Amino acid sequence: MKNIKNVVVIGSGFGGIAAALRLKSRGYEVTLIEKQNDLGGRARVFKKDGYIFDAGPTVITAPHLIYELFELFKKNYDDYIKIIPLKIWYQFIFDDLSKLNYGENLEELLRDIKKINKKDKDGFEKLLVESKKIFNIGFLKLADKPFHQAWYMIKQIPALIKLKSYNSVYDFVSRYIRNDKLRKAFTIHPLLVGGNPYSTTSIYALILFLERKWGVHYSMGGTGNIINALEKLMQEVGIKIIKGKEVLKINHKNKNVKSIILENNIEIKVDSLVCNADPPKVYDELIYPKIQNKLFKLKCNRLKYSMGLYVFYFGTKKKYENIEHHTIYLGKSHRKLLNKIFYTKELDDDFSYYLHRPSATDPDMAPAGKDCFYVLVPVPNNQSKINWKSQGYDFKKKVIKKLEETSMPKLSKYIEAEIFISPDYFEEKLNTKHGSGFSIEPIFTQSAYFRFHNKSELLNNLYFVGAGAHPGAGIPGVLSSAKVLDHFEI
Ligand SMILES: Cc1cc2nc3c(=O)[nH]c(=O)nc-3n(C[C@H](O)[C@H](O)[C@H](O)COP(=O)(O)OP(=O)(O)OC[C@H]3O[C@@H](n4cnc5c(N)ncnc54)[C@H](O)[C@@H]3O)c2cc1C
Repeated sequence: MKNIKNVVVIGSGFGGIAAALRLKSRGYEVTLIEKQNDLGGRARVFKKDGYIFDAGPTVITAPHLIYELFELFKKNYDDYIKIIPLKIWYQFIFDDLSKLNYGENLEELLRDIKKINKKDKDGFEKLLVESKKIFNIGFLKLADKPFHQAWYMIKQIPALIKLKSYNSVYDFVSRYIRNDKLRKAFTIHPLLVGGNPYSTTSIYALILFLERKWGVHYSMGGTGNIINALEKLMQEVGIKIIKGKEVLKINHKNKNVKSIILENNIEIKVDSLVCNADPPKVYDELIYPKIQNKLFKLKCNRLKYSMGLYVFYFGTKKKYENIEHHTIYLGKSHRKLLNKIFYTKELDDDFSYYLHRPSATDPDMAPAGKDCFYVLVPVPNNQSKINWKSQGYDFKKKVIKKLEETSMPKLSKYIEAEIFISPDYFEEKLNTKHGSGFSIEPIFTQSAYFRFHNKSELLNNLYFVGAGAHPGAGIPGVLSSAKVLDHFEI
């Protein structure tokens, strides 16, 4: 009888869970190991005083990539999760406190764009046409394909040059949109995957069309409900799940991973290993003995990391009915702010933010008559050396003040449950290099072949899924990274 291969997956983010399920459906024996006592990684859930806070992802795009995981085992996803489309995707608030609702109704959106700047109505329509061209190649053709060989990248170069992928998202959008407010709004997407719109490759402008094609959705019960459902599915199909155990070492010999070491020196032998843990951290700290490869070391030393995130979760005694499910406030000095975050690594008081109010759609996320929120502020990652242990509380006060001035009057009077996290959380709890929110930055020189390969550059039976590997961060990205593994005999 053919021996069944034993594959271990390290990490239970969306990428790790999807990889575990895909491999199980192909007949491998799969064990998933997670450092935390709960699954989900960035998509974990915090609970306090009757409030349910999705810690990370809130915007569900391309839900079919989630449904596919159930379909692999001929299960009906409706029995596990309920994902519903939203009408208003984001409400933008600009620094003069004017607003723009950005949502599924294109006619209304074009009308509102026209009110802000007449010419930009046609510009936006052209922008969507161009975004679709990038989507057709960047997402449909390349997102779930392996980029571990140079020749494959070389083959794509003519298409990437034609799409001007070396330009930034901001350059791309500015070709079609004149108004400064609208430029800021329509270049927001890179920030959702850890990039600076002024330097992120314009490939990411595909998200503009991706949202329009498949919509923007919410998972009832929160994104955490999807993680719970996937955990149930993993149990049903026989994936072994080990929680609360950190992998401390990956042993290899003759270019093959042999085993992993957990706390208390527990050794688990593996035939193949899939890492959902942050690749720079894995290569730097877990692999033993260290691999001496000058070129790879040079690449790692030059890596640029995505920004950090400060997230403040809070419940309010009253409901803020005028706040939409998703709000994005764009500060006056947005570009200056991004320069400080990405280049000089300084904290700025004139920040932009994203505000999540799940109880706008799903009242069960908060106790009756109350509201549940998180506000996410992009900040420098921990290369900044900011001491969040001492500055975190002060920053919270600034965040509350900003919310009071721009969207939630008298907020401090109504807050009754609160938690905050800073880049320290990402570094210490989720083992992410420099506490970045989204692993390495999605710039052209760190995308596709230039990102961490899904099949390791250095070891034969080591694979990577998740934000740091191709194609990159965001739920659709990390779910696609797991699909790339379908191309390999693991
Ligand atoms: C605040 C926030 C908001 C976001 N909003 C959205 C959104 O609205 N929509 C969207 O699509 N995307 C969003 N994203 C991005 C998206 O959440 C992430 O890109 C994606 O969830 C990352 O998944 P991953 O597979 O890379 O794994 P991660 O979630 O990074 O999980 C990796 C796991 O590996 C574990 N691990 C690491 N090292 C070890 C070890 N040595 N041993 C054992 N376990 C280990 C960690 O504990 C962690 O659980 C958001 C991210 C954040 C942080």
